[in-house]
Amino acid sequence: MTAPVLPSYVRDTWHAPHGEGRPVFDAVTGDTVAHVSTDGIDFQAVLDYGRHTGGPVLRDLTFPQRAALLEDLAGFLRGRRDELYALSARTGATLFDAKFDVDGGLAVLRSYAELGRTALPDARVYVEDELIPLGRRQGSFLGRHVCVPMRGVAVQVNAYNFPVWGPLEKLSQSLLAGVPAVIKPATATAFLTAQLVELVVESGVLPPGSVQLLCGGVGDLFEHLTEQDLLSFTGSAATAHLLRNHPTVTSRAVRLNAEADSLNCSILGPDAAPGTPEFDLYVDQVVTEMTVKAGQKCTAIRRALVPAPAVDAVLQALTDRLGRVTVGNPAADGVRMGPLAGVDQRDEVRHAVAALEGSTKRVFGDPYRVDTVDADPERGAFLSPILLHGPDPDRAEPHEVEPFGPVATVLPYDRPEDAVRLAARGKGSLAGSLVTADAELASRMVLDLAPWHGRILVLSEQNAAESTGHGSPLPQLVHGGPGRAGGGEEMGGLRGMLHHMQRSAVQAGPGVLDALTGGRTSG
Ligand code: NAP
Repeated sequence: MTAPVLPSYVRDTWHAPHGEGRPVFDAVTGDTVAHVSTDGIDFQAVLDYGRHTGGPVLRDLTFPQRAALLEDLAGFLRGRRDELYALSARTGATLFDAKFDVDGGLAVLRSYAELGRTALPDARVYVEDELIPLGRRQGSFLGRHVCVPMRGVAVQVNAYNFPVWGPLEKLSQSLLAGVPAVIKPATATAFLTAQLVELVVESGVLPPGSVQLLCGGVGDLFEHLTEQDLLSFTGSAATAHLLRNHPTVTSRAVRLNAEADSLNCSILGPDAAPGTPEFDLYVDQVVTEMTVKAGQKCTAIRRALVPAPAVDAVLQALTDRLGRVTVGNPAADGVRMGPLAGVDQRDEVRHAVAALEGSTKRVFGDPYRVDTVDADPERGAFLSPILLHGPDPDRAEPHEVEPFGPVATVLPYDRPEDAVRLAARGKGSLAGSLVTADAELASRMVLDLAPWHGRILVLSEQNAAESTGHGSPLPQLVHGGPGRAGGGEEMGGLRGMLHHMQRSAVQAGPGVLDALTGGRTSG
C-alpha cells in the first residue's frame, strides 16, 4: 500500500498537494508513513485568509470568550487523546513520552483558558499599569499603555520532537491574544501534527480562518509576511539564524520569537556528596533527561557539571542506571526508551558524538550498537544512551556541540564560581538546574546563572516530591533563553499572550482613556 500524501489545511479546506512530495518514515520500522508537499499552495492567499477571515472574528471576541474556545478545544482533544498516543508510537515515542507531548499540550491549552477566564478582563483590550499623569496641571493629560492584538497572522514553525505540545503551546497564546495561526510542523513528525489539526477541525470549536496547517516546505511564505505578522520558531540555532536574517523579516521588522537549541547544564552542589539524598536526585534527574523522548528535548541535560571529587561516583551511578534502560519498540512491554524520530536525526547525533569524542571519553553506550526489544535497531532509528566524560572541562566541544539525543557529558568543576563560569560557556540556555541542600549557596549561584538561563531549577530533598523536573517547560513560567537558546520567550503566563499584541502608549485626557479602557484600573 502506498503511503498517503498528507494534506494541508488551508482556507478551511483540506488541500491535497500535487506530486508525491518528501517521504516521512516510521521511527520504529523505517517504513514510509506519509509524504509531505505544499506544491500548489498559494502562500499569499493563506496569510490573507488568516488576516481577513480568522483575525476579525477572533478580535471580536473578549478574552473570556477566547478562553472558552481553548477550554472547549482542550475538552474535545482530551476525549480523543488515545488516537494521538497511538500515532505517537510511530514517531518513536513510548506511552510515557506520548503523554508528555499530548497531555503536556493539553495542559498548556487549559492553563491559558484559565488565565483568560480568571486573570483577564471581560474586554478586548489589555490595559497595563495605572493612569500616568503627564501634564503640569493635575489630571487633564495622562498616559496609559494598552495592548491590542496584532492584525496579522502568527506563523508557527515547530521542531519535530514535540509534534503535539509544540503547536498547542504556540496556538494557546496566539488565540487568546486574538491572532490566527498558520502551523508549520517539522517534516519528520508532520503526520502526528496533521492528525492533531484534523481533530481540531473536527471539533468545530474554532472560528473559520483561525488555524491553518502547512505540511511540507514553506515556499515563498515568508516573503509575504508584513509588519503585523509574527513568526514563532522552534528548532535549531542554524535555522533560527536563517529566519532572523530573512530579508522580509529584517526589512519589515516582523516580530520573531525563536526557541533554538541549547546545551543545558545541571550542576551537582558541592554539598551533595555520594550518600546524600541530593546526590541520588541528581543521578535520577540526569538519567530521566537522557532517556525521556530519547533525549530529544530542547531542555534536556547535555552537560552534567560535577564537583571533581564526586565525578567517579557520578559516572558509576549513571552507568549502573543506564545499563538498566531497555531500548526498543515503544509498543513492546517494558521498553523504557524508543528510537529517535528518524535515521537522519540519528546520523546527526552520531556525528555530534564523534565531534565530542575528541575531548571526552565514552563511559557508557556505543553509537553504532544497541540491543533492542521487538525492533530492528538499524531499520528503526535506535540509539543507545551514551554517557561521556570530559576530564578537561575547558575544552570547547562539550559547550558547543549539541547531541540532540540520549547523550550527556559529565564535566568536573573545582569551585562554585567555576561551575557558573562553565555553565555560561553554553552561551545561553533554556534550562539549568542546581541540585543542592545549601540554600545560601544556591541563592548566590542562581544570580550568577540567571543571565544565561531562561529557567533555573534548584532541587533538593525538600522540594523533590513536588518538583516538576529539570526538563519540563510550564505554561506559568517563561520558556526560552538568551543567546544560543534563541533569545526568545514563550509562555510565562500572560507574557506569551502579550507577545502577540502591540503595546501602545496612549496619551489623552481622562475621558478618552476611560472610554478606551472601560474605566478599568489594570488588566
Ligand atoms: P530545524 O531543522 O531547525 O527545523 C525546525 C523547523 O524549521 C522545522 O519545522 C523545519 O521544517 C523548519 N525549517 C527548517 N529549515 C527551514 C527554512 N530554511 N525555512 C523555513 N523553515 C525551515 O530543527 P529540527 O532538527 O527539526 O529540531 C531539532 C532542533 O530543535 C534541536 O537543535 C533542538 O535543540 C531544537 N529545539 C528547540 C526547542 C526550544 O524550545 N528551544 C524545542 C525543540 C527543539 P522541515 O522539518 O520541513 O525542514
